[in-house]
Amino acid sequence: AELPVGDGFAIYDNAMQKNLQEVRKIEKRMQFGIENNEFRIYLQPQFELATGRLSGAEALVRWISPETGLVSCPDYFIPLFEKNGFIKKLDLYMMEQTCRVLRDWKKQALEPVPIAVNISRRHIGEPGLAKRLLEICEAHGVPPEYIEIEMTETFELAENKTLQKALITLKKAGFSLALDDFGKENTSISLLRESCFDVIKFDKSFLSGCIEDKRARGLLNSMLQMVKNLGIKTHVEGIERWEEEDLLKKYQCDRVQGFYYAKPMPADMLTNYLPKT
Ligand code: C2E
Ligand code: CA
Ligand code: CA
Ligand code: CA
Repeated sequence: AELPVGDGFAIYDNAMQKNLQEVRKIEKRMQFGIENNEFRIYLQPQFELATGRLSGAEALVRWISPETGLVSCPDYFIPLFEKNGFIKKLDLYMMEQTCRVLRDWKKQALEPVPIAVNISRRHIGEPGLAKRLLEICEAHGVPPEYIEIEMTETFELAENKTLQKALITLKKAGFSLALDDFGKENTSISLLRESCFDVIKFDKSFLSGCIEDKRARGLLNSMLQMVKNLGIKTHVEGIERWEEEDLLKKYQCDRVQGFYYAKPMPADMLTNYLPKT
């Protein structure tokens, strides 16, 4: 049989070209976008499971096109920004937006809750990062205790002394630290032993199969108890069903976040969840 080489190549070629065009379009637009408010902060509420109280929120970026009003999600542009370095600008921008939100809540006499900010793995070991983040806090009168820094679990995080030092510096500055996407890729136990993390965010993959599969439940339960025994707060992401909440209550997980409770929303909508002082 003959392989349809010609057609195959044509399709491949088209896809590649579109991709490159797309990349060029984004790269041409990103600086303009950041200067013109096209990047917006969305917040997803987080809850204390035992009481149901709002315990905080996670800041998630969205890119809004002013022409079409279309919202694009981070998976579309963050990997590119991590490659071309623009992620550093975006992370600092999101930190600033987060501090603005916290300042506005205070102005409106709302009781603030801590907000978690994602800092890319490409950025976390950058010298002077803690100082820059602190400066942003100070400029808005926000105590660093109201900011939780989320970083993704990586191999480097466990092995790299510079990164370890960076974490300690952030911690000393007063930020709380969360290990994100725990269990999504290779989990390093030594990272836990050394770590100065206040919270471990269990990836939503821990939940898949949990309702039906006894082993999946056993693994989740054991991992939760292990992290608890280390004196670290447990947080599970991606709760979509009441059965999952039920299970996590049984396992005494500390904090939860997921579509079951609320999707990420424009920052000003989160005020509906905050108690008045
Ligand atoms: P992440 O930090 O793990 O954030 C959680 C993601 O899970 C968010 O996707 C959120 O919308 C989604 N999610 C929340 N609850 C559920 C659920 O119940 N089910 C499902 N299927 N998904 C749920 P989002 O907003 O698209 O963000 C994707 C990723 O992009 C984030 O994953 C984070 O790694 C990155 N990201 C977002 N904002 C920033 C940022 O400002 N800076 C950096 N460096 N990365 C960011
Ligand atoms: Ca996160
Ligand atoms: Ca995560
Ligand atoms: Ca992630």
